[in-house]
Amino acid sequence: MRLLLVEDDHRLVAKLKPSLQRQGYAVEVADNGIDGEFLGLEEDFDLIILDLGLPQKNGLEILRQWRHRQRQTPVLILTARDAWHERVDGLKAGADDYLGKPFHTEELLARLEALARRQAGQSQNLLQWNDVTLNLDSQQATTASGDTIDLTAIEFRLLRWFLSHPTGIHSKTVLSEHVYEEEDLRDSNVIEVYINRLRQYFGRDFIETRRRQGYRLRQP
Ligand code: CA
Repeated sequence: MRLLLVEDDHRLVAKLKPSLQRQGYAVEVADNGIDGEFLGLEEDFDLIILDLGLPQKNGLEILRQWRHRQRQTPVLILTARDAWHERVDGLKAGADDYLGKPFHTEELLARLEALARRQAGQSQNLLQWNDVTLNLDSQQATTASGDTIDLTAIEFRLLRWFLSHPTGIHSKTVLSEHVYEEEDLRDSNVIEVYINRLRQYFGRDFIETRRRQGYRLRQP
């Protein structure tokens, strides 16, 4: 899952980013309104955390602009404490959830998971396909034969992406965008290595290769 964090408080970013990464998000940060708006419009994210008080352009204007331009990515806004009008304005502008500062990181993570589940239409913290189950809390997978597998961070992100979009065909480029956060670390050839690991865990035909198109989960 790719997550955009638009926040100008560098100390908060330094604290949040590692927690988000541990949770399996590939995190991109913008520290001002102009960059944040641009990234949200031009790039493809699964979730966005948007601070409202930003230099250069405030969060509400950015959110209105995204929604006006049909960007429907779930957005959680960060609002000033006790500023109830900010929350109302934010929800009206198209935010999906809000959190008042200061907040506990655990609460933010739980709300993000809830947003992601709502987006994917699931009700619990499990993703499932063809007898393979992924637990988003423990980051463990269960195979068809009932074995539990501890996934590495990249394996987890990749499997979560597949299980969240089970009927889609995904190119190596798209997969590497959603698995790696740093552009310079993206190497679409390495994706093949991880695809093969998932096949070792869940069976050779769990992920099909579509010539010149990419990869797709085996359809039932
Ligand atoms: Ca701020």
